[in-house]
Amino acid sequence: MARSSPREETKGAGVEGRGPNPRIVSDPLSGREVIVAPRRAKRPGSYGVPLQPEASGEVEACPFCEGHERETPPELFALGDDKDRQPDTPGWKVRVVPNLYPAFDRQHVVIHEPTHTRSLGEIADDQLALVAGAWTEIAERAWAQGFDHLFAFINEGRDAGASRPHSHSQLVWLNRLSPEIAVEAPRLQQGSCALCALLGDLDPTLKLAERELDEGTVSLAVSPTGRAPYELLIAPSDHLPDAFGNTELLAAALALAAEGVRRLNAAEGPSPFNLWLHNFQADGHWHLELVPRLNVFAGIELGAGIFVNTLEPDEAATRLRGTLL
Ligand SMILES: [Zn+2]
Ligand SMILES: [Zn+2]
Ligand SMILES: [Zn+2]
Repeated sequence: MARSSPREETKGAGVEGRGPNPRIVSDPLSGREVIVAPRRAKRPGSYGVPLQPEASGEVEACPFCEGHERETPPELFALGDDKDRQPDTPGWKVRVVPNLYPAFDRQHVVIHEPTHTRSLGEIADDQLALVAGAWTEIAERAWAQGFDHLFAFINEGRDAGASRPHSHSQLVWLNRLSPEIAVEAPRLQQGSCALCALLGDLDPTLKLAERELDEGTVSLAVSPTGRAPYELLIAPSDHLPDAFGNTELLAAALALAAEGVRRLNAAEGPSPFNLWLHNFQADGHWHLELVPRLNVFAGIELGAGIFVNTLEPDEAATRLRGTLL
């Protein structure tokens, strides 16, 4: 069998459409290999799967809506309760229940709103502050029971793995670092932290927004080495390992994530995404990663561990910044 020439190898590096030459980048946080191979002709959304529209009867059948409390397992706690509220009755703002079909011993669901809200982008900042409070409360319970690690994530849209359209997050208790976080931990040590370096050197065109608080600054940026179109990175400027140690900064990060979702949905239409917290107990630099699911991860991504991103990060930032909110 003939060997391909070097020219063909360059041409064939995961590019299916015509566009500028692909370039290979390495994500400094994870070491992940990403080929940025923009296509001129197609926008990512043009072959992505949009968020499912609301189905008829969806609200009536939704166990997360206020008034349907008996359809979930008994609640663990709720925040923003009305005075004299009893558990599993209306009158809450954020409600925490066990996952009905847990894959882990402890897997909690945080319901973000009492009304049927389908996107994180529709949730107001003061409500997201309660969500951050619920995450912190769950963390304190996990630590008290001898669990050292908590993995918090949001799946939005069926194509991102959400089984319920009503906006919610999930927190899984772990007694070890998850493998993805274990890969990042040695790269994010104080003094040689790849995230501190990334934020320090960040191309200003990639930064979309930031929040300044007394406790520090949190920023929202398009990841310069994202594995997927419009991948977003949200992180405090200061080198802080534990997001659960400061609810205000975590609330600001969730508010910035919601802004990112609003910009994404304005640019591409309602889009499924996964968001997660990479948190570190001892040393590390916490951050949120938001991966829109406009493309499908296939053989090259899952099998080779090489991710092909068809949208240049600076082009993604231009489109997200250009959206009117
Ligand atoms: Zn609902
Ligand atoms: Zn750092
Ligand atoms: Zn990470």
